[in-house]
Amino acid sequence: MVKTLTIPMVAIVGRPNVGKSTLFNRLIGERKAIEEKMPGVTRDRIHGRATWLGTEFFVIDTGGITFSETMELERLVQNQALLAMEEANVIVFLTDGREGLTALDEEIAMLLHRQGRPVILAANKTEGKMVGLEDFYRLGFGEPIPVSAAHGLNIGDFLDRVVSFFPAREKRPETAMETIRIAVVGRPNVGKSSFINALLGEDRNIVSTIPGTTRDAVDITLVQDEKAFTFVDTAGIRRKSRVREDVEYYSVLRALKAIDNADIALLLLEATEGVTEQDQKIAGYIQDSGRAVIIALNKWDLFKGAGRENAAVTQVDNVRENLKFFNYAPVVFTSIHEPRRLKRLFSLFGVVYGEYTRRISTPLLNHLLSDALSMNPLPTSGKRKARIYYWTQPAVKPPTFILFANDPKSIHFSYLRYLENRLREAFGFQGSPLRLTVRGRSKKGAKGS
Ligand code: GDP
Ligand code: GDP
Repeated sequence: MVKTLTIPMVAIVGRPNVGKSTLFNRLIGERKAIEEKMPGVTRDRIHGRATWLGTEFFVIDTGGITFSETMELERLVQNQALLAMEEANVIVFLTDGREGLTALDEEIAMLLHRQGRPVILAANKTEGKMVGLEDFYRLGFGEPIPVSAAHGLNIGDFLDRVVSFFPAREKRPETAMETIRIAVVGRPNVGKSSFINALLGEDRNIVSTIPGTTRDAVDITLVQDEKAFTFVDTAGIRRKSRVREDVEYYSVLRALKAIDNADIALLLLEATEGVTEQDQKIAGYIQDSGRAVIIALNKWDLFKGAGRENAAVTQVDNVRENLKFFNYAPVVFTSIHEPRRLKRLFSLFGVVYGEYTRRISTPLLNHLLSDALSMNPLPTSGKRKARIYYWTQPAVKPPTFILFANDPKSIHFSYLRYLENRLREAFGFQGSPLRLTVRGRSKKGAKGS
């Protein structure tokens, strides 16, 4: 079995109208509901994270990949399928169990057979009445799994099958030294390859390159100031094909994988252009991943002379305005023509990593909590008085905090925001997201309080 370091990818392939996007939404559903509550988050509907029985994976809805509008249907479906197949670990071939088999289904089947990736055939819309599924055997992928994406029928069995095809996730090879893993991400042409090459190019301190199992995943580790830094997925950045990079889908997918394998995402933006929609999408994925983030306004050399400082202020304002949810991310200016700026980044990586792995002791947290509660008491809702008993930090990467309360539902999202702000005021956590959750606990069992 092939082992992999990266999160598994599932692509949903099929002709139009069979229910791909409905299935996609069903798979990522829970997450989307959470995201919609967060203001200022823009994202597309093509990729999303999903979880089944503790296994996390990415889902790609190939129907959402757009090509030229004049392309005829067959070509369109083919292209979508081909793109998906190159990256996916498992392909879900979705058909319509009401309409039955069509010529386009057979064409897609032929493409899929040529690729040799695991394919799971599913027949959608099979709630209540359906045509016989025997015809679908002709496609050569065995018995189709009947599902109903719209009604959520048989999705559990279907997901069991999907997950069973995932390669085992390998533990990262342990290096002797702790290493800080960095993904350099950004849209095409923002300067990722040049940046990586400038950072690594002349450096004689490169200690290892670890080829992953996929041809794209090459990690490079180098030592700087007695710390190890690993740049993930560097081959994917260095060796690229223009045609591919032009498909937005590709650059996003690559970023997604790299981010998943990193501690810190270094998001490169074009200093002269500010934040674009595509930047916001990539930012959305960083946010989803829970990784730490640094924002770099790249090609800073293009701003010259007297206007430079004003430009800097304007650019940072622009970043803050358009990437509101990254208000904790440091913003730096970078340029391959100004090596000093690049060198300085290493100490910032160290700082942000420190914050991302930082632990606050329970007593200290509870001091902060009681201060916060007295400054801004919990609102009373209904008869029962909401109470928070105590606070702990069970995890890092990112720092994760659990509040124990008598009635978790009564602790409003905005109160968690307030506590997050207090945490940041007290401890910083520069560049690192924080996770705050509330759990129920009866007063009897409560500690502290
Ligand atoms: P896509 O083009 O493959 O992405 O298909 P969509 O997800 O947009 O769905 C096409 C149509 O099929 C929509 O009208 C859906 O509401 C409908 N649909 C999706 N899943 C089901 C299902 O499980 N049962 C039924 N009856 N209709 C469905
Ligand atoms: P990628 O697609 O993100 O990997 O971008 P590339 O590294 O291929 O860079 C795209 C273009 O931007 C190339 O023409 C580079 O020479 C140019 N470029 C990259 N970094 C800088 C920089 O710091 N300053 C300037 N002025 N140009 C840069």
